[in-house]
Amino acid sequence: MSKKFYDDGLKFECTRCSYCCRHEPGYVFLSKNDLGGMVRELKISEKKFIDKYCTKVDIGFFKRLSLIEKENHDCIFWSEQGCAVYKARPLQCRSYPFWTQVVESEESWQEESQSCPGIGKGKTHSKEDIDDWLEKRINDSLISS
Ligand code: SF4
Ligand code: SF4
Repeated sequence: MSKKFYDDGLKFECTRCSYCCRHEPGYVFLSKNDLGGMVRELKISEKKFIDKYCTKVDIGFFKRLSLIEKENHDCIFWSEQGCAVYKARPLQCRSYPFWTQVVESEESWQEESQSCPGIGKGKTHSKEDIDDWLEKRINDSLISS
């Protein structure tokens, strides 16, 4: 098996700074599982959820479903009380910062720490746990049209 820079695990503990939920433009792409979880959490229909909280993003050959943002680029679900769908938040949110492009190398991990103060702090996440997050993302196919 190929050696990864995170073979000995990586330190991360969320400081709840909320930076990854707000201020900057970005997308939170949704899978069927994400959609189902949030619909159940908010007790509304899938159609109503999509009409109210989602947009289709053209990424070239197809479009992906993403949460919308407020005018100031905060996620539609972010408020001073935190994430309104925290228990059912999308896998993209739950798996951060263990994303393929972030754990690709020591450099990409260090670079990401500039925007996430939890990186390098707190408990060590094992290689197995990190690989598990990566695999979950791969297996959770995103909604596209
Ligand atoms: S940027 Fe990092 S520390 Fe801040 S809320 Fe997001 S995951 Fe937590
Ligand atoms: S869904 Fe929740 S955790 Fe994800 S970006 Fe929005 S506010 Fe943050």
